[in-house]
Amino acid sequence: MKKLINEPGSVLDEMLAGIVAASPQLALLDDHRVILRADYKSVRDEGQVALISGGGSGHEPAHAGYVGSGMLTAAVCGEVFTSPSTDAVLAAIRAVTGSAGTLLIVKNYTGDRLNFGLAAEIARSEGLDVQMIVIGDDAALRDTDGAGRRGIAGTVLVHKVAGAAAAAGFTLARVRKVAAEAAESISTMGVALRPCTVPGSERSNFELTEEEVEFGLGIHGETGRSRERVGSARSIVERLCSTIFEDLALKTGDRVGLMVNNLGATPPMELSIVAQEAIAMAQQGRLTVERLWVGTFLTALDMAGCSITAIKLSDTLSEALDAPCGAAAWPGPGLAAGKTLRVASPPPPPDSRSKTPARPLPGARLVLEAAANALLEAEPHLTDLDRRAGDGDLGVNLARGAKAIAAAADNLAAGSPAQMLQDLSALVRREVGGTSGALYSAGLLRAAVALEGVSNPSPSDWAAALDEATSAISTIGDARIGDRTMLDALIPAASVFRETLATSSLTATLKAAIAAGEEGARKTETIAARRGRASYIGDRALGTRDPGAQAVVVLLEAIAGALKGNLAER
Ligand code: ADP
Ligand code: MG
Repeated sequence: MKKLINEPGSVLDEMLAGIVAASPQLALLDDHRVILRADYKSVRDEGQVALISGGGSGHEPAHAGYVGSGMLTAAVCGEVFTSPSTDAVLAAIRAVTGSAGTLLIVKNYTGDRLNFGLAAEIARSEGLDVQMIVIGDDAALRDTDGAGRRGIAGTVLVHKVAGAAAAAGFTLARVRKVAAEAAESISTMGVALRPCTVPGSERSNFELTEEEVEFGLGIHGETGRSRERVGSARSIVERLCSTIFEDLALKTGDRVGLMVNNLGATPPMELSIVAQEAIAMAQQGRLTVERLWVGTFLTALDMAGCSITAIKLSDTLSEALDAPCGAAAWPGPGLAAGKTLRVASPPPPPDSRSKTPARPLPGARLVLEAAANALLEAEPHLTDLDRRAGDGDLGVNLARGAKAIAAAADNLAAGSPAQMLQDLSALVRREVGGTSGALYSAGLLRAAVALEGVSNPSPSDWAAALDEATSAISTIGDARIGDRTMLDALIPAASVFRETLATSSLTATLKAAIAAGEEGARKTETIAARRGRASYIGDRALGTRDPGAQAVVVLLEAIAGALKGNLAER
């Protein structure tokens, strides 16, 4: 398994060094893997209760990311997925405990309970005031015997609530009470799409096929409660939310906060999709979602998937969750969910140009339809070319534009030439997208300006408009001939069109222009791109024709074909 590490054995120390180097508000305790608030002494001597959490590593940003004002005083960091030693916990306790005492916040795993518990015993025997609270928010284990519910992502909310209580100057007993209220009010369940791999090991603990997801897993790469076929985000969120809502016995009107947590390798895009589904689920259950946090809070290394935590809110808990906090990984109060802000987009300015009376162009509809059909037919070929030298979207993008043009052909053809080009420009801008969409739209707009007020353009008016369009494309895309773009077909076609027109018939001129465009497109097979995505792959595009240039040829041929029929008719 590929990882950005040096050696499995040095992962923990190197990670801690990196965290502290990037965070002037944090310090590393000598001889121990303990991260502390850099100002822990003054906080201790002011008489604030100290908070310590921690556990195995691999859950970053937990727990070092939650060390800071208004949250943890120290995080004790074990090896990956391994409880820290009693001595490390004890060292942390000795460092941060003052007269106000220390609360240990421990996730419910046997190793953590033992090492934190033993350290607390020893510290008490040394005269320090230390208490401990154990968190088990995992709803997947709500009706099982055995070691009890695991502590998972909801623990972060307990850190926050307890941190606010400590910062407010509460006594140890009161901080513990508030933390216990938070612990009682949270429930979490997770789903994995892909398991995680521990640094240095070749394989993950379990395997999932492309069709499977694992529900109700812990955060140590262990197997979950059940394995099922992957469904939509909605169906997965339904499953998670119904379990945690039931676990908290939530009922109509209850106020809740929701936390959508990335288990490590889930794209933010998917988390946001999960978040809006979770809100929908809560609203469906007639809950009031007052807070929402979406992000990476407590992970299992590179596991893909997420967990959802619900916290049943009281005034005390809301206030504590909203309190100021200086820990790097705490995102802030969480927006008041459900109050989604929307603002109206400003309307375009009224068209101020003098409108030429709409004198439609004879045959325009046929030309538009021919161009649209040709692009649709060329889609697979253009897709293939763009896949080889770009990102593969050109065929689909142009086909989408073509469908819109075909659907609007009657309306488009009803306008004056300038109006038609302007409408086409807007349509392409809306529908096509990508580089080509913007470039074609710019060219069409410039051509529209060139034909403004011309009610029945002559071939040389069209030649001038084509030159204008070409120069707009060259300017906006900062490209010239030989850069391996659509301009390699467009520039020769436009100039041959203008030049041949002086001496030849329109039919002959069109033929010559197409031949020049085709020749230009063919040449793109022999040049490395200097513009567009193909420029990222240098010589590897050689031998493949530029898709944009090929699209130009397709369009020219279609337009000429339709015009030819049209000319013959007249
Ligand atoms: P992308 O996927 O990069 O947004 P498209 O797939 O829409 O781009 O279009 C790719 C084509 O756009 C290329 O084959 C090339 O002909 C053309 N192109 C790319 N960059 C430029 C540019 N700067 N000027 C002119 N044409 C360009
Ligand atoms: Mg592309």
